[in-house]
Amino acid sequence: MNGLSSLREMFAGEIVLPADPGYDRARAVWNKMFDRYPAVVVRPAGVDDVVTALRFAREQGLVVAVRCGGHSIPGLSTCDDGIVIDLSAMRGAQVDPEARTAHVNGGALLAELDEAAQAHGLVCPVGVVSHTGVAGLTLGGGMGRLQRKFGLTIDNLASAELVTADGRLVRASEDEQTDLFWGLRGAGPNFGIVTSFEYRLHPLGHAITFGRVTHPLERARELARLYRELAESGPDDLFLSFGTASDRSGVDDFAFLTMMHCGTPGQAERDLAGARAFGPPLTDSIQAMPHLAAQHLNDETQDWGHRFYMKSAFLPSFPDEAVDLCVEHAARAPEGADCEFSVWAWGRAIADVPEEATAFTGRQAAVWLAAEALWDDRALDEQCRSWGRDALADLAPFASGGRYVNDVAEVGADVARTVYGDAKYERLVTLKREWDPDNVFRLNQNIRP
Ligand SMILES: Cc1cc2nc3c(=O)[nH]c(=O)nc-3n(C[C@H](O)[C@H](O)[C@H](O)COP(=O)(O)OP(=O)(O)OC[C@H]3O[C@@H](n4cnc5c(N)ncnc54)[C@H](O)[C@@H]3O)c2cc1C
Repeated sequence: MNGLSSLREMFAGEIVLPADPGYDRARAVWNKMFDRYPAVVVRPAGVDDVVTALRFAREQGLVVAVRCGGHSIPGLSTCDDGIVIDLSAMRGAQVDPEARTAHVNGGALLAELDEAAQAHGLVCPVGVVSHTGVAGLTLGGGMGRLQRKFGLTIDNLASAELVTADGRLVRASEDEQTDLFWGLRGAGPNFGIVTSFEYRLHPLGHAITFGRVTHPLERARELARLYRELAESGPDDLFLSFGTASDRSGVDDFAFLTMMHCGTPGQAERDLAGARAFGPPLTDSIQAMPHLAAQHLNDETQDWGHRFYMKSAFLPSFPDEAVDLCVEHAARAPEGADCEFSVWAWGRAIADVPEEATAFTGRQAAVWLAAEALWDDRALDEQCRSWGRDALADLAPFASGGRYVNDVAEVGADVARTVYGDAKYERLVTLKREWDPDNVFRLNQNIRP
């Protein structure tokens, strides 16, 4: 590759080439479905390196993949023959406990933000698997178990600094580059490489209550009724997910409620009494625990190196007919795969932010529903994809508009329009023309300039 020696002179971080011993590790991403071979992987040591890497990529005409946690469902943080700008050497989160803010570097993982904030009894609402990247999660929206109380991750974003396609370092917030800030909150990867985020934090110093109760699949409808009641009448402190699952360990199919209550354990006990009275569960793991412990509970089952597909939708309600479809399709899951429907109660602080306030689309839904499949045998790829697609095709009549961009496994010309809807898409195109007219940042759910 021409120009590599001048890159080496300018670049303080690590450069990994195909012949280097670390190449296979450097090119890997979380979803094993994507096995790509970039021409070079660079790990910037700081903002200057990001600018240098981007300039090099543009001079060489290389496709640019940007990586934080590497958890993109469609494998968008890797590429064949291009450059991966991997921010994993730019980690870390610093908290100002007085101001209740966190400054987080562009390559940080959720665990770093969670740990830095909890050290001061504070919290930022993020996602539920701690090895996910802060950047990818935030720039798409950021769903998790505290969102009904504190809003999406983007609703807690105070500002971001990014290197734009022309190599400038730009700050965007409610007061600076406000249009860009609007677009960053939901369609962020289209506009630059974010090198730091500033978040507002909330107090959460006591134990939370978290866990799952499972019941026989035959009781799914009744359990869904309880779920709807709790979602409607329960406090903002309560996160609720209804689901149906099949399990490759051979356990029978089951229905479940996953709950997290971020009030005190006493409040949680009162608010969850109805769920406890539902009847003897097959299993019950609900207990008080530190928030950080809950944030790590899914880390192992969702570890790197598996194959994964998901398809999701927002629904304005969750009627019995949709519950039945979740039951029916859970029972049809391919043998050898872990397949699950999760239906998260939405609303409250998420819906308090006007739909037009950010590029994120889907705040007014009652629930977010996803079919997720995780497996290891590549021979199951097509079956697992079809399982998710078929299920969501049957559920489509119950869905409202908009999709959560971070769950979209498909890529292609029309995908972004279906995510954002026509009006927001057009506004995003205008922004894209201003900030990235050459579509340098195109490995994302792409807004075409
Ligand atoms: C195991 C697992 C659990 C998940 N849990 C949740 C959850 O609880 N809540 C939720 O909302 N989502 C969740 N997701 C979805 C997740 O939000 C997206 O996959 C997200 O894109 C991952 O971010 P990342 O930084 O790890 O990914 P990456 O693959 O590194 O990047 C994803 C996208 O963001 C771009 N990008 C990355 N870093 C930057 C940057 N610094 N500047 C600009 N663009 C950048 C990449 O180019 C790519 O297009 C989960 C995904 C997985 C695999």
